[in-house]
Order: sequence, then C-alpha cells, then structure tokens
Amino acid sequence: MENFDGLTAVVTGAASGIGRALAVKAASLGMNVCVADMNTAALDTLAEELRLAGVGVYAQKLDVSDSAAVKLFADECFSRFKSIELLFNNAGILSLGCCWEQSVEDWERLLSINVMGVVNGLNAFLPIMVAAEREAHVINTGSVGSLVAAAGMAQYTASKMAVRGITECLSVELQLQGLPIGVSLLCPGPVATNIAEGVISRALGDTATPEMIAEANAATVAGDPNFITPDICANIVFDAIKDNKFW
Ligand code: NAD
Repeated sequence: MENFDGLTAVVTGAASGIGRALAVKAASLGMNVCVADMNTAALDTLAEELRLAGVGVYAQKLDVSDSAAVKLFADECFSRFKSIELLFNNAGILSLGCCWEQSVEDWERLLSINVMGVVNGLNAFLPIMVAAEREAHVINTGSVGSLVAAAGMAQYTASKMAVRGITECLSVELQLQGLPIGVSLLCPGPVATNIAEGVISRALGDTATPEMIAEANAATVAGDPNFITPDICANIVFDAIKDNKFW
C-alpha cells in the first residue's frame, strides 16, 4: 500500500496517545479517518484538528467492549466512505496489581476492553473488508506484554498475549482463504502516553503530589531513551505498512 490518499482508516482509542497519533498521521497522508473513543471531549478536539487536513472525518463516542455499538460504528463508517483500508484496533487500558488480589470485576473489565474490544472490531469490520475484495490491513495494538510477562501486570499481559494469539490465528486464516487483507500485531515498548504516565504515578505511590508525578513523568520520558513519542510510533507503523514490512 504505497499511496494512502483517498483511502479510509479507522482508529479506536483515537482520542489520546498512540491512537491519536495514528489518526493524525492518516489524515496527513490524505486518508479519510473514522475515529472512536469513550472520551468525547478529547475526541471532539481531535476531530476538529483532523478536519483542518481537509479529509473526511467521522468521530463517534464508542465503548469498544459494546459489540452492538461497534457494529453500528462499522456500518456507519462504511456508509460514509464506501471502503475501509486500514483498521487500527487500538483502544486499551492498563491495570496494575498483585495477580491474586485483583477482583473478578477488574479482570472482566480489562479483558472486555483489551481482548473483546479487538474481537468486536474484527467481527464488525472484517465482513465489510472481505466483501470489498480490496487490499486492506488490520493492525491490532498488542504490547511488549504480548511477548514477555511482567510482575504486577497479569491482567494486561494476559490480555495482550490473547490479542497476539487472535492476530496470529487470523493472519493464517486470511492467508489460507487467499484474501488480500493483512493482519499484524503492533508491540510497542514504552511510549509516552497517559498509560505510561499511569505506570509512573503508580510506582511513586499514593502520597505523590500531582507536581511530583508530572516531574517524574517528564524526567522519565525525557531521560529514558526507550521511551518514544506517539508520533514516532505512528511514523514507524505507517512506514511499515508502506514498505510491506509488517507481514
Ligand atoms: P492512552 O491512554 O493515551 O490512549 C488510550 C485511549 O483508549 C484513550 O483515549 C482512552 O479513552 C481510550 N479507551 C479506553 N477504553 C476505551 C473503550 N472501552 N472504548 C473506546 N476507547 C477506549 O494510551 P496509549 O498508550 O496510547 O494506548 C493505546 C494502546 O497502546 C493500548 O492498547 C495500549 O495497551 C497500547 N500500548 C501502549 C504502550 C505505552 O507505553 N504507552 C505500550 C504498549 C502498548
């Protein structure tokens, strides 16, 4: 996929961080963008910014764990833009804590977003993309946690390893059916977003003031060469799609 101009990208969890950067990058390449998030205020701000790029924009408040709502969102994306070439199943949350002390409700909430959110995106959008018989790509946001486990991150790790499993199975299924749709797993290390800041503030403990947290965030992100910005992450993703390096 060399020329993105006029194609359509869908991004969930688009109001912030990596999803926001992916949406902005897509618009900068001339793509129509369909963006969804729970955070309506930040989503509205993003939509205004995207429209300045002169591309088609559809912004929808959406909880990716709500399968019926994701299906409606997919139908509306298709009805507005008539094709979908890039799907970023990106929305995700983080939960930290001792594995056996986390409640069933916490487990269900995180898995409903991080795992079922991806499943809902696939179930809603893939029939549309398959029927179109056009080249298309699905990118599920995993994490380095899709590859290695980390203490205090059982829920997150379980969810991201599940997303890896789903992605790998789907990849084989699409290839076996000879469909022109690629599916890939994005496995970022630390990216300077709200999620990363949540880890830092949690590490500081309950007594940390907002100033201490802000200072630690700035110092960590600036001082740690492993942290990249969401913009850099989005550039890497689009370069990989363009150069066919994902699959
Ligand atoms: P972020 O918090 O900045 O962005 C996540 C977005 O998802 C937010 O706008 C949030 O409102 C939205 N969201 C949360 N629950 C939702 C739901 N139920 N329905 C719709 N939207 C919802 O964090 P981010 O770092 O940009 O995270 C994006 C993805 O990247 C996540 O899947 C995360 O697990 C993954 N990731 C992040 C890092 C990192 O270091 N930041 C590393 C690896 C993977």
